[in-house]
Amino acid sequence: MADSIEPIHFKFRWLDDEGNTTSLLRKSASYDGCVLQLDDTLIPVDAIADVQIRWDRIYLLLRTESGDWVKPGFAVSGQGLKEMQHAINALRREALIRQERRRLMEQGDLVSLREQECRYCRATILLSGLPETPQVYCEVCDSLFTTDASAEQQSLEQQYRICDECGMYSQPRKFTTFYFYFLFVIYGIWNKTTVRCPACMRGESWKMLLGNTPGLIGLPFSVVQLYRSYSPRSVQGPMRGLDDANIRLRKGKIDPALDDYEKLMDAQPINAGIKYNIGTGLVQKQEFQHAQRVFEMSLDDCGNYWPALQGLLATLEQQGKTVETEAVRQLWQLDDGEPTGNELQDDVTPKDRQ
Ligand SMILES: [Zn+2]
Ligand SMILES: [Zn+2]
Repeated sequence: MADSIEPIHFKFRWLDDEGNTTSLLRKSASYDGCVLQLDDTLIPVDAIADVQIRWDRIYLLLRTESGDWVKPGFAVSGQGLKEMQHAINALRREALIRQERRRLMEQGDLVSLREQECRYCRATILLSGLPETPQVYCEVCDSLFTTDASAEQQSLEQQYRICDECGMYSQPRKFTTFYFYFLFVIYGIWNKTTVRCPACMRGESWKMLLGNTPGLIGLPFSVVQLYRSYSPRSVQGPMRGLDDANIRLRKGKIDPALDDYEKLMDAQPINAGIKYNIGTGLVQKQEFQHAQRVFEMSLDDCGNYWPALQGLLATLEQQGKTVETEAVRQLWQLDDGEPTGNELQDDVTPKDRQ
């Protein structure tokens, strides 16, 4: 049972499947360490299997009494966000440590409990049983960080993660697609908010610009978004060229993209994310054996990098390597039926992702 804490009060708005807030009015919420109360919905802490945080948005993975998984999301406003993140991380930490202790005790191996605090969101990351690697991945805020990094490297790494839209390691930012349409007497506004990388913003921004031209009201907004997608901030430093490589890959120009990634690897020899992108490129080329090796290299950089682990399992399956698949599942302690975090990732991700 979780311990109760001094209740935290905050305001929130529910999110729909498109990632938009469902009303203009903010509702009241509280959390006391045992129960999360969101308006008139009470969620016992023990029902929360996973939590993911993207900017001001929090997504929960919950198991209902009937055994189904549901994935509600809500946006926290103002002051409450930091406190709420802190509290949610504390509850996640307790649940994880409890689970892990039980598992290791059953195996008579409590000494191998190994954990690490996320540098950015302070969530507890459990690493028991995994090889020690230079990088660590945080499932809660989706960041990948080098444990022994310079201050400069830290601030760079903080900006990079998997894009919810295209699934590539990149520099995603909050991006709102906004259309204003005006048809004689019928008019309307359509918008959706996602977290996506500059490469993913570009196509959408042009579409938005063209779509908004007759309406005019959405036009300044489109221009701003278009500017953001091309802003030089995203193409400087040691990650220069990553957006271009990702764009090439998505356009099917796989060999030039792979060349770009090789160059990036010279500047960033230890980076599980870049290797993950290379792996996805090789999967597109149907070079599964080669892709398998690159996903393994990605896991050598970061032993708990879930995107690479999923890539590795997929390539092993493609090659019909059932023994290896089983070995990987055992090493990473993947039980059937247990949530791995992917369930929640799918929900954070818009449905139209390929
Ligand atoms: Zn984190
Ligand atoms: Zn993207």
